[in-house]
Amino acid sequence: MIRVSSFSLPSNPSHIVKIREATVADCISLADVNDAREEAATTVFLDAVCGEDSRLWTADDRRFALLWYYIHTEQDHFYKIEYECDCGETHKFKLDLKDVLDAYRPIDGPAERKIVVRGDEYVVVPLSGAAMESLELERIGIDAISCEKGDGPEVAKARLQMHLNELIYKISGNTHMESRIVEMSVGYARELITAVDDAISEMAHGIDTVYENGRIYILSPPHKCEKEVVTRCRVRFRCLDFIPEL
Ligand SMILES: [Zn+2]
Repeated sequence: MIRVSSFSLPSNPSHIVKIREATVADCISLADVNDAREEAATTVFLDAVCGEDSRLWTADDRRFALLWYYIHTEQDHFYKIEYECDCGETHKFKLDLKDVLDAYRPIDGPAERKIVVRGDEYVVVPLSGAAMESLELERIGIDAISCEKGDGPEVAKARLQMHLNELIYKISGNTHMESRIVEMSVGYARELITAVDDAISEMAHGIDTVYENGRIYILSPPHKCEKEVVTRCRVRFRCLDFIPEL
């Protein structure tokens, strides 16, 4: 069995995580997870190889752990990328996923920040694995409605609810947050969203990623084409893609 080096959790560097190579039993458990449920698969995989509850980790801890595992267990870390460049052409290149680790940084300070909006205090936290699983389920639901009925009012309302839930997941101790938010004036809510986003940026940790609609993408290092246009490509790095088939 390949030994995978332990790593520090990006959101809490004093927490050392031991990690082992996946077993056949792990692959069987993963096969039970629906293909669309990337975050649920990530939980099954990381819980098995790390022996911890990875739903409690941040979304970025989980992405980092997956990449760490991949780099340490696969000989070939290249990922084929094809993208539409701002220069108007489509380019292809091979990204060495190891280079993504160059952008690694541990969190600066604790994984929570106090913010004050119009005199009210909130504690902001990064999105957790558990939050990502819920947001992913919402996205799958929205995609299903959109597929069946098109992008009507039902989809618009569900998307709004999903954005609201994303905000709620970023605020700690959020039991009554939903009822509080719906009563807020739009101006207050906008200030809250901006303050939350700023706090989340301050807490950036792990590798460079971007969140969109219940999905986390890894960002490639800046890639320059022949026409000198620099692009950072989004990589949908899913654990279901690299789990070995037997
Ligand atoms: Zn180009």
